[in-house]
Amino acid sequence: MMTERIVSTTCPFCGVGCKLDLHVKAGQILKATSPYDAVVNHGNLCVKGRFGWDFIYNSQRVTSPMIKRGGRFEPASWDEALDLIADRFAETYRQHGPDALAAFCCAKATNEDNYLLQKLFRAVLRTNNIDHCTRLCHAGSVVALQMAIGSSAMSNTASECVKSDVMIVTGSNTAESHPIIALQMKEAVRRHGVRLIVADPRRVEMVDFADLWLCQRPGTDVALFSAMAHVIVRENLINRDFIEKRTENFETYVKTLEEFTPACAELICGVPAEDIVRAARLYATARRGVIYWALGIPEHTHGTENAMSLIHLALLTGHIGREGTGLNPLRGQNNVQGASDAGAMPWHYPGYQPADDPAVVEKFARQWGAAPAAHRGLTTTEIVSAAGAGRVKAMFIMGENPLMSEPNLHHTAQCLQKLEFLVVQDLFINETAELADVFLPAASLLEKEGTITNTDRRVQRVRTVVEPPAQTRPDWTIVCDLAKRIETKLGVARSAHWDFQSPAEVLNEMASLVPAYAGITYDRLEPEGLQWPVPTTNHPGTPILFTDTFPRGRGKFHPLVYKPSVESPDAQFPFILTTGRVLYHWHGGTITRHSQIDHAAPEPLVEINPSDASHLHIEDGQWVRVSSRRGAIELRVRVTDKSSRGVVFIPFHYAEAAANLLTNDAVDPVAFIPEYKVSAVNIEIVTERSEA
Ligand code: SF4
Repeated sequence: MMTERIVSTTCPFCGVGCKLDLHVKAGQILKATSPYDAVVNHGNLCVKGRFGWDFIYNSQRVTSPMIKRGGRFEPASWDEALDLIADRFAETYRQHGPDALAAFCCAKATNEDNYLLQKLFRAVLRTNNIDHCTRLCHAGSVVALQMAIGSSAMSNTASECVKSDVMIVTGSNTAESHPIIALQMKEAVRRHGVRLIVADPRRVEMVDFADLWLCQRPGTDVALFSAMAHVIVRENLINRDFIEKRTENFETYVKTLEEFTPACAELICGVPAEDIVRAARLYATARRGVIYWALGIPEHTHGTENAMSLIHLALLTGHIGREGTGLNPLRGQNNVQGASDAGAMPWHYPGYQPADDPAVVEKFARQWGAAPAAHRGLTTTEIVSAAGAGRVKAMFIMGENPLMSEPNLHHTAQCLQKLEFLVVQDLFINETAELADVFLPAASLLEKEGTITNTDRRVQRVRTVVEPPAQTRPDWTIVCDLAKRIETKLGVARSAHWDFQSPAEVLNEMASLVPAYAGITYDRLEPEGLQWPVPTTNHPGTPILFTDTFPRGRGKFHPLVYKPSVESPDAQFPFILTTGRVLYHWHGGTITRHSQIDHAAPEPLVEINPSDASHLHIEDGQWVRVSSRRGAIELRVRVTDKSSRGVVFIPFHYAEAAANLLTNDAVDPVAFIPEYKVSAVNIEIVTERSEA
């Protein structure tokens, strides 16, 4: 079939933000390609971008609002559904106060969708109980970066890796989670002679390209990276000029490094001392060293400290503020950066402006006509617990699926079941939507206009490739409609602030309040987007941050102490479970499990090391029961040396064996991120299903 038109948009899956050309005929998408001159991905797409777009045509897509009556969803009109929500939210607000309400925003939705949902909850319902999945992935990185340098985004552009001399990649299965960035890293190694250090408890694909693999025990990152810092200081490989001019608290920090000798760290993390020394020398003596990390670093009860130990390496060596250097937390979902920028967080208004600063509250109240009290709201895990305790009574969940993504899912389900009223806005009835009182059918990212912000801060357009089916609507229009109805029910003066004619107008309002977006307009985003900060309308964008200074002035060293994970293996639960992604799926699976690419990875597998399998007399493909103190699941085994001895891996995409039934809901006390990466588990053969 011949293509009638090609619509250029941005991939709806991961934070790399690849440019996608979708070929359309008779209102149907035929195929996806990407132009060779695309600045982010140079014409490359992974399997999700190339083939995963067909989820929009899945027959299970919900295309009408639904209201639950007598325990079953029944189709309803938009007026019925939105009026019911407005009634119930207004009633909850009047009877129990603003903080009895809460919202989960969505890292898959646009900046405009997220900006408006947080505005609805802040300006109309007067609560800061707004969060999204950044709490569950990079919250530890965000807090550490804010504390150390005052900004939490990637400092550099991912494709700059070819300009580095040495890369450290840690806690990141880059080849499966950020495949096109992995492609650029492989090119950097193979074609540009860049040296690669991978620090990861699993033998991830990038190990095949590495000079050095540091296979640390899960949860021991502070010991490993502080020992590298110890070597850098002991061998005087520090950048003294950078430390004097651009950092503070160095002398205090250095004293605390004394105990982190490589020999001592080896006992904790299992990495040979000589490899720690080699890695430290390689990184510190490079002209340009860069660090990339993902969820393996922050998803711990000491995730903030883990990220801080990496930040210290850059501050000691001055490997920041120049091309090919930097601190780069790779963001997961396509718009987790943008949702954070747009204020989908309980402690910050849009643009990371503190929610407990009266001057900030005053600024937003002037623009919006109202704002909540100047105190922080609850995080995702706190909202779930507050629902369980009856303090949060009504919730709005846009595009997230906490019954797949939260830890300790039995507990999460018990808590959410106690809500008096739950609204879910999504494409499919997922595990969380099963509990909802009202379901609102949203348009997908391929069926609406908007912007999303990728992992290296590039704000890019998404476009209406095909029209939204049946009664589905773009999230931003649903939120505006609902906001007006709630204002009416509450009897507050109807403001003009919800009469947006287009998402471009919504972005204009956000840009007027967020200095980093001040110079961004839809016109300026053609053809390749802009990397924030863009302070004025003629500013070209900022590929490299911190060239002269940090947002907090000087970079600050924070002394660290190694703390073990909350759970350690024992006789009852002798293995460490770590969780993550596979190439073919994305997060809770709401989208990719409704795509044809599900056939490539249709079932969950637990990966186990050959020697552990042999010890347990388990063969590849056999069914096993994996149990933790919180639950149990049954799934098949894959015997592979990707898993280290004593460490098993389960992907978190599969509802039929949800890894988060097992994970620990203990949280980092500073960032409130759960300890997804270390849970003690047991494995037993399930004999009756072994031939299934
Ligand atoms: Fe889409 Fe990410 Fe794959 Fe690029 S790497 S095609 S953004 S899923």
